[in-house]
Amino acid sequence: MTRRVAILGSTGSIGTTALRVLSRQRERFSVTALTANVNAKLLGEQADSWLPSYVGLVSPNGSGSRPEWKNGVGALVDAATRTDVDIVLNAVVGVAGMDATLAALSAGKRVALANKETLVVAGELVAAACATSGGEIVPVDSEHSAILQCIGARGAKDVRRLIITASGGPFRQWGADRIGAATREEALNHPTWSMGRKITVDSATLANKALEVIEAHFLFGLPYDAIEVVVHPQSIVHSMVEFVDGSVLAQVGVPSMELPILYALTHPERLADSGVPRFDPVAASPLTFEPVRLDAFPALQLGIEAGRAGGLAPATFNAANEAAVALFLDGKISFAGIAHGIARALALVPPMASPTRDDLMDADRRARAIVKDSV
Ligand code: NAD
Ligand code: MG
Repeated sequence: MTRRVAILGSTGSIGTTALRVLSRQRERFSVTALTANVNAKLLGEQADSWLPSYVGLVSPNGSGSRPEWKNGVGALVDAATRTDVDIVLNAVVGVAGMDATLAALSAGKRVALANKETLVVAGELVAAACATSGGEIVPVDSEHSAILQCIGARGAKDVRRLIITASGGPFRQWGADRIGAATREEALNHPTWSMGRKITVDSATLANKALEVIEAHFLFGLPYDAIEVVVHPQSIVHSMVEFVDGSVLAQVGVPSMELPILYALTHPERLADSGVPRFDPVAASPLTFEPVRLDAFPALQLGIEAGRAGGLAPATFNAANEAAVALFLDGKISFAGIAHGIARALALVPPMASPTRDDLMDADRRARAIVKDSV
């Protein structure tokens, strides 16, 4: 029987890569729902090719929509909870994807999660939704896919440390002053990965690595002291797991999201005819590792501290970062201004234990306002 997939954010970098992966697996998977934010033209081409039973265009003016499509923000939750959907690939960028993740989990679906912001903002609510409904999260992020594959059937009790690799981004070797004045074009020029604009900027500030540390904390249930970041400029070792006996396993491959996307759909099974790019160790040589320069990348430190603080802090970190990255891409603030905006928002978060979804969204709104007001 084919497994039925909903793709939220089908027109983005992960969404289009997922459809390329699935086009080689049409006997095993069908695509029953597609959603996009504004790109009606590409969404239409995808709908014509995959014939999903549900298509949603989120953008409020619905420009370019077809009569049979649904419009508005409700489309994400609609698509994620349909009875003709087994797996929800959440490839939306930002906290906009959160409610759909929670709704899919509560409906007992597998969520193949690229939308890491969901786990950062609402990690505890995600855990609660999985516990009560039988839903499950399988990560798409390459580092977390690597960790999942290395841990295999072992649990967190056998793990001493996670070592998350970071490419270091385009400014890996730049001085702090030059980084602070970096232009949009420089920040969007990632050395190893081709991705959407927001995550590409996050990879230049290293805010992306902070999001990934928090994501790993919630996915694998390990304390922050047991999660480290190391710079690995070639992006071949996708991450490593150190077990309690000192053994370290790494998962390696070319920098391509095809395998992590496919694995999130098939886990724990593997497909023989995946069609993903083959690995050549000689061509990938040499592999190098460096310590991360926390002083030059303040957003990383701020994000890890927000993770440790818990409560509203991760949601505040995420929202301030989303708002600041948008301002940077609009030419309204400097590259250094991204971390400044995050720090300002975090300084004003009140402590709160066990926030609800609405508490988190209040913190999200407050953080965005603080960042915008400071321009
Ligand atoms: P992208 O900007 O290329 O695509 C985002 C998709 O989400 C688009 O289809 C867009 O229509 C949709 N979208 C955007 N805002 C929306 C909104 N408000 N409501 C509904 N839909 C909306 O982004 P991407 O690079 O594909 O990244 C998607 C997610 O995957 C992010 O969370 C990112 O951190 C994560 N991720 C991406 C990569 C990668 O290689 N691109 C790797 C790891 C993790
Ligand atoms: Mg990643």
